[in-house]
Amino acid sequence: MQRLLFIVFSEIPTARKVAIITGGASGIGESTAILFSKHGAKIIIADVQDDLAKNVCKDLVSSAIFVHCDVTKESDVENVVNTAVAKYGKLDIMINNAGIAGAVKPNILDNEKSDFEQVININLVGAFLGTKHAARVMIPNRSGSIISTASVCSTIGGGGSHAYTGSKHGLVGLTKNTAVELGQHGIRVNCVSPYLVPTPLAKDALKLDDDGCKRAYSNLKGAVLGPEDVAEAALYLASNESKYVSGHNLLVDGGYTIVNAGLCLFA
Ligand code: NAD
Repeated sequence: MQRLLFIVFSEIPTARKVAIITGGASGIGESTAILFSKHGAKIIIADVQDDLAKNVCKDLVSSAIFVHCDVTKESDVENVVNTAVAKYGKLDIMINNAGIAGAVKPNILDNEKSDFEQVININLVGAFLGTKHAARVMIPNRSGSIISTASVCSTIGGGGSHAYTGSKHGLVGLTKNTAVELGQHGIRVNCVSPYLVPTPLAKDALKLDDDGCKRAYSNLKGAVLGPEDVAEAALYLASNESKYVSGHNLLVDGGYTIVNAGLCLFA
């Protein structure tokens, strides 16, 4: 019986693993919480939207808790990591997913320093704090998977505000540098980079509804990107199936970033 249970659990990617998901109250983070929960992970949702996050937790099929956490505050991030360890004994997976788009003002002269800093603080400094405190508890266990949600804006220009594009390029640099350092401790660090997903963030920033998001330029026909597809990519990076993948930026973009949408000979 024990052997049977071992075989069953070892085939489920995140069974018995403990995962913190920042920004898990909505959109891609919520889908990631749902998918990881279905695969047996214990979930800690860390977000600033308390009511939404609590509702997500209620619907999860595995053990799940919500911890209020503003990712720009080091004490909040430290607290959520400590809570995960206190409640579940360890931390296996850290998903730095919380993010904002920031106002898109095409003319740099209209861009305020404070707006720029707010986006960098949430999207990049937040991921730095998540990576730092996850590493703090993962290093003694000599294992762990840290995954950040970047964006296609991590590899191309013109897809978002200056702050957003800067933050997502920075996230790839942070991922690569921390993957180099933390590899010696058996910890993998990667990011997932989606194209346009119809979530509150994307719809508000681009003034699009669900259909508008689906109609936006895409290279791959016959498939529509949803938050669950990004969650599947994160699940792969969190699982043992990706045990030798580190420092990688996994684009989930249907080939969007490998063509020049403005000069496409095949459209
Ligand atoms: P979303 O708005 O649905 O979710 C973002 C979540 O982050 C929200 O629950 C929000 O409360 C939380 N959050 C914001 N600021 C926070 C803070 N300071 N501390 C803690 N939580 C905070 O948007 P989404 O599209 O699911 O975004 C998730 C991630 O995906 C972001 O990093 C975003 O940049 C990235 N992304 C989104 C798209 C897209 O098209 N939707 C594409 C590429 C990348």
